[in-house]
Amino acid sequence: MNQNHYDVIIAGGGAAGLYAAINLPADARILLLTKRELSLCNTALAQGGIAGVYRSPEDKTTLHENDTYIAGGFQNNHKTVHMLVEEAAQDIGRIIELGVEFDKKEDGDYHRTLEGGHSRRRIFHHKDATGREIADKLRAYVQTLPNVEMKSDTLLCDVRKTKTGFSALTLHDGKYETVHSHFFIMATGGIGRVYEFTTNSAIATGDGIMFAYNMGAMIRGLSLIQFHPTAFNNRHTRECFLISEAVRGEGAYLLNCNYERFMQRYDDRLELAPRDVVSNAIVLESRRTGSDEFYLDITHKDPEEVKNRFPMIYNNLLEQGYDMTKDRIPIYPCQHYLMGGIQVNPASRTKVPNLYACGECSNTGVHGNNRLASNSLLEALVFSRHAAQDIAKKMPHAPENFEELEFNPHTDAQPVPHGIRTQLRHILQESYFVIPNAEKIQENFSKVCEILHDLEETPYLINQDYVEARSTATIAFLILNEALIEEKGA
Ligand SMILES: Cc1cc2nc3c(=O)[nH]c(=O)nc-3n(C[C@H](O)[C@H](O)[C@H](O)COP(=O)(O)OP(=O)(O)OC[C@H]3O[C@@H](n4cnc5c(N)ncnc54)[C@H](O)[C@@H]3O)c2cc1C
Repeated sequence: MNQNHYDVIIAGGGAAGLYAAINLPADARILLLTKRELSLCNTALAQGGIAGVYRSPEDKTTLHENDTYIAGGFQNNHKTVHMLVEEAAQDIGRIIELGVEFDKKEDGDYHRTLEGGHSRRRIFHHKDATGREIADKLRAYVQTLPNVEMKSDTLLCDVRKTKTGFSALTLHDGKYETVHSHFFIMATGGIGRVYEFTTNSAIATGDGIMFAYNMGAMIRGLSLIQFHPTAFNNRHTRECFLISEAVRGEGAYLLNCNYERFMQRYDDRLELAPRDVVSNAIVLESRRTGSDEFYLDITHKDPEEVKNRFPMIYNNLLEQGYDMTKDRIPIYPCQHYLMGGIQVNPASRTKVPNLYACGECSNTGVHGNNRLASNSLLEALVFSRHAAQDIAKKMPHAPENFEELEFNPHTDAQPVPHGIRTQLRHILQESYFVIPNAEKIQENFSKVCEILHDLEETPYLINQDYVEARSTATIAFLILNEALIEEKGA
């Protein structure tokens, strides 16, 4: 094989990309790309944990399945939900074998925590930094695999379908390279950075969804966005630090600008209502009071217990000047998770032959209209393994040769103008945030189409700014388009 020929290229080094690499055949030559440093991804930010029925006699997969349907408004795909809950034990067991450590109780059994919407304690966690533990351990394992070449700070700039597979343009340290593969796995994560305020890491600009869309894959459910109600409200940074809902689970109160509890006006479950209900309540309460000042208050609980249960949250807030055992924490909803994405079947295949998608950029249908807390890390594991297993079956029949397409990165062209992404983020924030604004959606859709058309037609220099501007415009187009179609159908 030539140096730039691979059996499989994986775009993404979060839970989905890493676990796909682990499950591909040992003789597959694999290239795994991450846009920035290896540790920068949404996986590393996951606090709460991973849901699953694993060695718990008092729980049942049917209960997990039912909780997933209830959270998803019964709009979930039954086949994939069934796979998700039934195969959870297999994948949770495997990552434990690979070195992932979950918190245990004094008797040696796992400490399973409870989150909104779960009828049983079934969330495996590593303190309040579960995602980082999973990402670190899976990455360390992948780094020992001789068949996987991991390239960090390497941007996937473009990818096209060829007769034999795929050709892709990458950019590392100012140098462009063209690579080719028979199979391609998109594991590029979420879209949070298309909003002004999000819990997502800087890499989450929906690049993989844009590439898949441009290759003809079906994209579904992009308007199914989860807005987390309790992000730390520091309106100076785009990435909002998440205050896990487990803090409300442990008894924290939500307060309005007058320091009053207000959830009783909106839902009988008060602070323990699901995320979308709480986010809606905050926005409605903000309209009622005319203020967007909101707080989470856990100062009435034992300070030592709070520090011990939420060490990462406690320390992060302390760095921001808030001691959560003594101070009210300023919060406000922000973009958190994408339920939809690149449409895949249960084997994680897209409509484009040999193009796979898994993790947050994919739409397996498991979440329905709303994700059940802690089901996404599980989805990333189960369905990236499915992608790897499907590729393993097809690999012996892959062609011997590689058709090689060339790309023009327009190195002499002008860079994409400043301000496009800011404009698009503002458009989404004002038209499609928590409670969609029909008027603004109408008004902004044509602006988004114009921006996207300019990015597609003008030969700008291909670099990170260009790729992310084009992804942001494509995602904004897909969200608003879907919202308009839904509105017409309503
Ligand atoms: C703050 C926070 C808390 C969360 N808590 C939980 C939780 O408790 N439980 C749970 O189940 N889920 C949780 N989630 C959701 C969950 O973390 C994500 O859905 C999941 O980790 C996504 O994994 P992934 O592998 O699909 O994407 P990511 O982990 O985001 O990885 C994406 C990868 O794609 C790469 N990439 C992107 N674009 C390109 C490009 N153009 N070129 C090259 N590489 C590219 C990135 O570099 C990165 O390596 C949380 C999310 C956030 C943000």
